[in-house]
Amino acid sequence: MTSVVRAVRGDLEPGELGPTDAHEHFFLTTPVQPGDEFADVGLATVEALTLVAVGVRAVVDWTPIGLGRDPEGLLDVSQATGLHIVGATGVHRDAHYPPDHPLRSKTEGELADRFAHDLTTAPVRSGVIKVGASYHRLQPFEEKVFAAAAEAHHRTAAPICVHTEHGTMGAHIVEHLRGLGVGPRSVVLAHLDRNPDPVEHAETGATGTWLQLDGPGRTKYWPDSTVLQLIADLVEAGLGGQLLLGGDTGRRSAIRAYGGGPGMDYLFTRFRPRLEHQLGEQLSRQIFVDNPARAFAFEPAP
Ligand SMILES: [Zn+2]
Repeated sequence: MTSVVRAVRGDLEPGELGPTDAHEHFFLTTPVQPGDEFADVGLATVEALTLVAVGVRAVVDWTPIGLGRDPEGLLDVSQATGLHIVGATGVHRDAHYPPDHPLRSKTEGELADRFAHDLTTAPVRSGVIKVGASYHRLQPFEEKVFAAAAEAHHRTAAPICVHTEHGTMGAHIVEHLRGLGVGPRSVVLAHLDRNPDPVEHAETGATGTWLQLDGPGRTKYWPDSTVLQLIADLVEAGLGGQLLLGGDTGRRSAIRAYGGGPGMDYLFTRFRPRLEHQLGEQLSRQIFVDNPARAFAFEPAP
């Protein structure tokens, strides 16, 4: 068996991935962010070209079912730009879906069937399973989604990518998924820098899971120096081999093609040079190239 990264244009050898933005959204429409939705394929292509211009070769798009997920749109962007794009199936945290949303009444088995279909037999295949947790707790709908994601992982081996709310419950989520038979190396935890606590990050990292920071450019919450220090602390703790970085440009108002800022390329034009200057180019290569090639690779089940 050989590992692949499942991108929208087809399976890649992990080494083909190249410099990767581990968390983005080319389209996102959610009641949680009224007025900040974006769903235009043409504008997504314009923004994607800014990534290509700074040497990015691959992007993982985390938009899940019901929130503007558009596999054919991702394929269009990928074909127009040459970027490798890994799409997501799966379901976000509870708050993104109104009480009467049809996804809520699906059984665990129905959700698992849908996820597995998106990963294996859909015309444009997804490469990761997205799930979401609430602030310091898992709600019943989320527990059902987690169980369905674990079932789909068992059938496909695809990694499970987790939205943590304000970075809470990292280790708890890893253990919850381990209890469902999902190993920590198949789990990516996003937004951990929303709780900029290096000791908690080290504890979470000790489980063996992937640690994703995606807060560069969120200057009204914390400066980039905070994220750089978190990275330095994780490297000091021996966890550089589990680190991923994403831009998570999840708002219309943050995307330059829509007239916003700082733009999807901020992670590479502004943050990456600081990372390389302060922590070295070798670490930059590990975080942007080597780690994504392992985190998003899996051996497809026969
Ligand atoms: Zn996101």
